[in-house]
Amino acid sequence: MIIVLAIDALEYEKVQQFGCDNLKQQYYGKTDISEFSEPRTMVLWSSFITGMNKEKVVLSGGNNEMWSKRWNIGDTLFSSFKDPIVLDLPGFSYDLLSHEKSRNLLRRFFEAENNNEKEAILKEYNKDAIEHHKKIKEKFLEAIKQRHDIVLGYFSAIDVIGHLNFGNGTMMKTLYREMDELAAEIKNIPDTKLIVLSDHGMKPIGAFGDHSNYGFWSTSFDAHLSSPKITDFFKVIQNL
Ligand SMILES: [Zn+2]
Repeated sequence: MIIVLAIDALEYEKVQQFGCDNLKQQYYGKTDISEFSEPRTMVLWSSFITGMNKEKVVLSGGNNEMWSKRWNIGDTLFSSFKDPIVLDLPGFSYDLLSHEKSRNLLRRFFEAENNNEKEAILKEYNKDAIEHHKKIKEKFLEAIKQRHDIVLGYFSAIDVIGHLNFGNGTMMKTLYREMDELAAEIKNIPDTKLIVLSDHGMKPIGAFGDHSNYGFWSTSFDAHLSSPKITDFFKVIQNL
């Protein structure tokens, strides 16, 4: 079984700082996303699953259209599998409504006129992200028990919460440890190859977080990668 932990905004420096050895696995590093004009989530995951730079196509519909983009399975790496499960991945099986809710809360946070209002929105925003995380995690744990040929789980909490709380070291560490423990659980499943991949990382902007211009990758096997592009993983997975 191949398992892909797709973690939005998992930051290389934070994986190091928080000692997330299970996320690091045996082989790890930064991805090179310099071919893209900006580190955009939908563009990067679309490029990952199709093995091609899809920036132009994804951006052609405008910002709102972008999030509803869905690739046909025939255009993606999943077409070479018999029984793939892909949970919540942007561009493929994304829960548009749930993610729209968090984008609306984010907008309301920045539009809020006083600190009390901001604090109340922030609380709701964080709670919403955690609830969504738990829902996806539950489905993911169920899927990896069933032994599909490939299981991909997309986890967005580190990105969503990071945007407004990146300066909160305790909160960020808790989220990183949570993902590290999930990677540890996967390690115990026999005959499993694990790829951990992020679209981009995150850098501090005051107390907030913004996307950094490289991503994180790790593998439980040697794929002879040093500074791969996100599109290179299409071939890596097909070769397995
Ligand atoms: Zn983001």
